[in-house]
Amino acid sequence: MGKKIKEVLSLIKNNKKFLIVSHKNPDGDSIGSEIALALGLRKLGKKVYIYNQDPPSNRYSRFDKAGLIHTDKKEFNEDIIFIVDCAEIDRIGNIKDEINFKKTIINIDHHISNEKFGDINIVKGDYSSTAEIIYELLDKLIDLDKDIATYLYIGILTDTGSFRYPNTTSHSLKVAAELVDYGVITSQVSEFVWFSDPPARIKLLGDVLQRITLHKNFSIMIVTKDMLKKWGAKEEDTEEFVNYGLSIKGIKATAIIKEKDDGMLKVSLRSKNGVSIQELAAEYGGGGHKTAAGFTIRGDLETFKNELEGKLEKIVNKF
Ligand code: AMP
Ligand code: MN
Ligand code: MN
Repeated sequence: MGKKIKEVLSLIKNNKKFLIVSHKNPDGDSIGSEIALALGLRKLGKKVYIYNQDPPSNRYSRFDKAGLIHTDKKEFNEDIIFIVDCAEIDRIGNIKDEINFKKTIINIDHHISNEKFGDINIVKGDYSSTAEIIYELLDKLIDLDKDIATYLYIGILTDTGSFRYPNTTSHSLKVAAELVDYGVITSQVSEFVWFSDPPARIKLLGDVLQRITLHKNFSIMIVTKDMLKKWGAKEEDTEEFVNYGLSIKGIKATAIIKEKDDGMLKVSLRSKNGVSIQELAAEYGGGGHKTAAGFTIRGDLETFKNELEGKLEKIVNKF
């Protein structure tokens, strides 16, 4: 057993109150990891509070029937703070100024770029998801059950895009298999995650796909505020749209630029065939992985789209 895992296990045993935090706009891995960890700690009789700046999107709120994830601030006086699935501390958003950094921070993440901001950092860049790491931790701590296994499975399933992305390894598949052995109903999870979309999302998707621009080896999609309004869709309905831009043969990189209410643009980047878009995201102050990264920037959509076209062209065609 790794020395750091041992240290975390003893911190858990010797403390009572735990805060669990993840990144802004939490995804399936954030939520799955947070809830699984919380349920595991509760099995040991610990007090746990999960806080995220933003609530789960409709897709993932279905999995939090017990309302374990909070977005309301309180006095944070927990002994130990787990920060999961965050490469940088700023990713936790508006709670940063209220966390008492004198408390012990345990940073659990799978981004290679992780800044190791914790007192203990368990960072595994070759793991598909944070859930895969939480599995190893909980497996040594408690008896896993169907409920906990389901949350961990959601984390792995969503961060691997249902085992399609290059981060799908024999290890992630083995962990997923073990989780299924605890009784995860895979068809139910799939239905909740991938087959329960609101009609507005599908209408909007049609519009977004119509407007995709195809360039030499890369593509760009846009989602304007007007498009959301036209179809009665919400920003969260655009989750995962970016993958369609990469699904075309010959396309090695893609971007989706989304206009937000506050005048910012949220950009998601994806790549394949050995191309890395991580550095491009970092150039704009964002981050992520080699084949999935993102950033947020202030600007005009059309102007920025032109700028991004130039950058992507250089990356995929290596001038
Ligand atoms: P997304 O495009 O939002 O699905 O994110 C893809 C990957 O990029 C995830 O691993 C995120 O953690 C990372 N990412 C997205 N936006 C940012 C950001 N503003 N700063 C740092 N990392 C980001
Ligand atoms: Mn995440
Ligand atoms: Mn993740």
